Amino acid sequence: MTNPIALEKLSDRDKKHLWHPLTQHKTHPEMLAISHAKGALIYDEEGKDYIDGIASWYTCMYGHCHPFILERVGAQMQRLDQVVFSGFTHEPAVKLSEALIEILPENQEKLFFSDNGSTATEIGIKMALQYHFNLGRKRNVMLAFEEGFHGDTFGSMSVSGLSVYNGPFEEFFIEVERISVPTPENIEALLAQLENRLQDNNIAGFIYEPLVQGAAAMKMHDVNGLDKVLALFKKYGVITVADEVMTGFGKTGAHFASDHLATKPDIICLSKALTAGLVPMGLTTCTEEIYQAFYSDDIAKGLFHGHTYTANPLACTAALAAVDLLRSDEIQGNIQNIIQWHRDFDKEIKDHPKIAATRQLGVIYALDLNVQMERYGNLRDKLFKHFMDDGVFLRPLGNTIYILAPFVIDKSQMDRIYESIKSVLEIV
Ligand SMILES: *Cc1c(COP(=O)(O)O)cnc(C)c1O
Repeated sequence: MTNPIALEKLSDRDKKHLWHPLTQHKTHPEMLAISHAKGALIYDEEGKDYIDGIASWYTCMYGHCHPFILERVGAQMQRLDQVVFSGFTHEPAVKLSEALIEILPENQEKLFFSDNGSTATEIGIKMALQYHFNLGRKRNVMLAFEEGFHGDTFGSMSVSGLSVYNGPFEEFFIEVERISVPTPENIEALLAQLENRLQDNNIAGFIYEPLVQGAAAMKMHDVNGLDKVLALFKKYGVITVADEVMTGFGKTGAHFASDHLATKPDIICLSKALTAGLVPMGLTTCTEEIYQAFYSDDIAKGLFHGHTYTANPLACTAALAAVDLLRSDEIQGNIQNIIQWHRDFDKEIKDHPKIAATRQLGVIYALDLNVQMERYGNLRDKLFKHFMDDGVFLRPLGNTIYILAPFVIDKSQMDRIYESIKSVLEIV
């Protein structure tokens, strides 16, 4: 007898028990079942392929199921799967720390592991607050950019400026003040306003997405302006926390967005592409100075934060293999190619009457459509459907379309994305 459940489509079985993230199930009941993925392609259960134009939320930057990553993690799996990281250590974590210290901004010295991007920023915030606490200073306010996004746990939600979904939780948030993103126009006024605010010595830290605000539709900001803001915070002893969860690992053309800036952050938060999309892991790195504020004979001065899967050996092995790939001539060459393809595409389309603005940093490319959101309430759904029908997976944000494809995408695949964008301009 055949099993009736096996005949039902996965997308129908999904509805019975599954609750998806960031989803209002009443208005969006349908989930597309993905059966497998390879390189820049994902395949649905009917066998149709889609180019993963956002690298599955910026994680699978070396392509899906990269054989080098699978081989290294497969071998590690035979040796050591998981062990407590409190009181124990292991080779994958030690080797990863050595490999990352080589490529991180030169002031970074210590690494603290967790499970995802939200915990990485949560820990960055806790480090900044406890740093001052341990030094006996009363500094309890965090600064953050307007429209920033730092994650979905309470601390990271508090510092996030995109708050449409935060209503039920707002009264439980930590104390946060928001500042404008620097532009060549506002920079002098912003510096004056900050200098004035910093006379009152209660600002503990500043958390920011360096140069690109991903969730704010790939908004990009001025390198010089951000450098000046960071230098001012240094002068006043405000701990700077760079949230590089999205920007890390080659996407901006440099290994880290902070590499484009003269003033290096005290703390850096990493996740997403850290493990090449194989398994979740978060990482918060810091300077020796931060670490020393916790190093003490007094046990209570330690950072008493720990997740069960801290520094999972398989995740560390995936991350170590990913660093090898990132530093390879092949991937660095691919990054340069994509940067040039985007530049050429931009020249071709930027003056199109349906396009209001375009921007690029490294392999991140975004364009804003010149259409009124009020009039096109379902614009996002319409764009999304158009791309998926074309076999291109992009997730437009409002009226912004952006590309952040895996580094291994080839020219013909990228052209499929460009062609689909060009044809969408004819229907909006
Ligand atoms: C995705 C993201 C986070 C949150 O990471 P999760 O792994 O989804 O918790 C935090 N900060 C930035 C900049 C991100 O892009």
